[in-house]
Amino acid sequence: MFTLLTGADVYAPEPLGNVDLLLFDDRIVAVGNALAGGIRATGLDVATLDMTGQILTPGLIDGHFHPLGGGDYEGPLARTTDIELGDLIRNGITTGVGVLGSDCDARNLPDLVMKGRELAMGGFTFFFYTGSFFLPPVTLTGSVRRDVMFIEPCVGVKFAISESMSWGTEEEMARVAVDGAHGASIAGKPRIVHLHLGMLPSSLDPLFALIERTGLPASVFYPTHINRYDPDHMKPAVRFVAMGGTIDLTGVMAKRGGSKTGLRIPDAFKNLINLGVPIEKITYTSDGNVSMPIVDETGKRTGGMRVTGVDFLTDEWRAAVRECELPFAQMLLPVTATPARVLGLTGKKGCIAVGADADLVAWDRDLRPQTVIARGKTMMRDGELLVKGPFEA
Ligand SMILES: [Zn+2]
Repeated sequence: MFTLLTGADVYAPEPLGNVDLLLFDDRIVAVGNALAGGIRATGLDVATLDMTGQILTPGLIDGHFHPLGGGDYEGPLARTTDIELGDLIRNGITTGVGVLGSDCDARNLPDLVMKGRELAMGGFTFFFYTGSFFLPPVTLTGSVRRDVMFIEPCVGVKFAISESMSWGTEEEMARVAVDGAHGASIAGKPRIVHLHLGMLPSSLDPLFALIERTGLPASVFYPTHINRYDPDHMKPAVRFVAMGGTIDLTGVMAKRGGSKTGLRIPDAFKNLINLGVPIEKITYTSDGNVSMPIVDETGKRTGGMRVTGVDFLTDEWRAAVRECELPFAQMLLPVTATPARVLGLTGKKGCIAVGADADLVAWDRDLRPQTVIARGKTMMRDGELLVKGPFEA
């Protein structure tokens, strides 16, 4: 089945202007001017989506979210339920990497994998990290190396550094990092060691020690929550990027999300750019679907707990677009092409190009998602959700 998208202002992320896109099945098969006439002349059955006046971009990639919930610090009544497919689609997110957080006992990897399958059957592209906060890591097969080698959507391993709740020795961390990287090499996957960065003043010191001890290049390590201001991770992050690393900023770290220690993404992003960090070395993720205290804009607690969702990725990105005086095409990088590069998906995800997956979002001029296409399937049209999770209201 062919689908023709026409009328939109297209960013691939680089600006392509007003071009048409032709989709076949789950792929983009043509990008160009006035494709409509040629397609009609063939007599093929083509569905046309008119996107006049809208901005068309690749679907967003959320490289760290909690499909099963997370942030379980206030007991059973504050446990988040599973995410719904619609939560992601409504926010223009078509690819994501699911993680376990501070609970890897009542929540577990088999459940995460099955939840990911449910999302994938709906049209979403799902990956996950083995492990959780803790060392030794939880795994599916009994080994981080085998998880990464044999389980297709497993793109690497995650654990926490500088986190008071999760304490691992340098040797334990090095062993797990090498194991994950080795499994990825054998499987022909990108090597990714994803690091939750906690609140201890040691900051990125354990990461520098890991690089030295393992001999792995900085590009293998992918730390998140860099936008904590307490302690300030900005300066060590600059050093890490200079070594070849890529860093991640977290949407829910904004004070309005309930974090006591975080900066909004636009503020952290501006700091990093002013410190000379290339924009291609920064990604944004939501860390969404976690329970957080109810707070006002200043972070003052005003109630119990609530779910802080993946909308924090899209909202913080939108705010960054508005507040940072950089071209829109560049502001797309942290949520499209750069996470695609980190995940080894360049040319397939996070871009609009012939041969890429048809993951697309048409935005109105206020950057609200209007139409979302995931692997060629129209998931949302003119703001109306067409595809939902199996039990989604
Ligand atoms: Zn998280």
